[in-house]
Amino acid sequence: MSGVKLLCPGCVEEGLKSTVSHETRAHYLMAWRPYWDEEGDYHVHDPNSHASWFRCSNGHVWPIPNLCPAEDCDFNVRRLADLAEHLPYKKADK
Ligand SMILES: [Zn+2]
Ligand SMILES: [Zn+2]
Repeated sequence: MSGVKLLCPGCVEEGLKSTVSHETRAHYLMAWRPYWDEEGDYHVHDPNSHASWFRCSNGHVWPIPNLCPAEDCDFNVRRLADLAEHLPYKKADK
């Protein structure tokens, strides 16, 4: 993620400034590997959809998409549908 600009979408919407950190829940990690399919396309299917997320200093949290780099991959359709319940952000429970 280094070198990539990132602003909290919730704070942008509300006109606030915040810092954003990346958090992971390591004990939720399941074993998985990227692979190349029969067409030679590279697929990254990280099953840990909620194992990592962003959190801003104003308390917004939102999941990291972890989309597969292969275009038109079913995995991305499922992942985006899953994320639609969570995006763009929600306030963290205090
Ligand atoms: Zn925020
Ligand atoms: Zn894929």
